[in-house]
Amino acid sequence: MDYFASAPRGTWGTWDGRTARVPYGTHHARRLGSAESACGAPAMDWELFWDVGFAPALEASCRPCARAILPTR
Ligand SMILES: [Zn+2]
Repeated sequence: MDYFASAPRGTWGTWDGRTARVPYGTHHARRLGSAESACGAPAMDWELFWDVGFAPALEASCRPCARAILPTR
């Protein structure tokens, strides 16, 4: 299942060369319809960024979220 980037606040920025809503600050991972981020934060009223997939390797990505969604190794 795909994770989208989610954050308490968003801003307009560039993503993949297009203007898009992007997270302001840390990117958390959240599934569509989930009330929590992957790291367990209550994310019900956070913005979900449809154009921005959660990228664990990204500098701005939440480490606990990245750990939570990566396969164990
Ligand atoms: Zn997180």
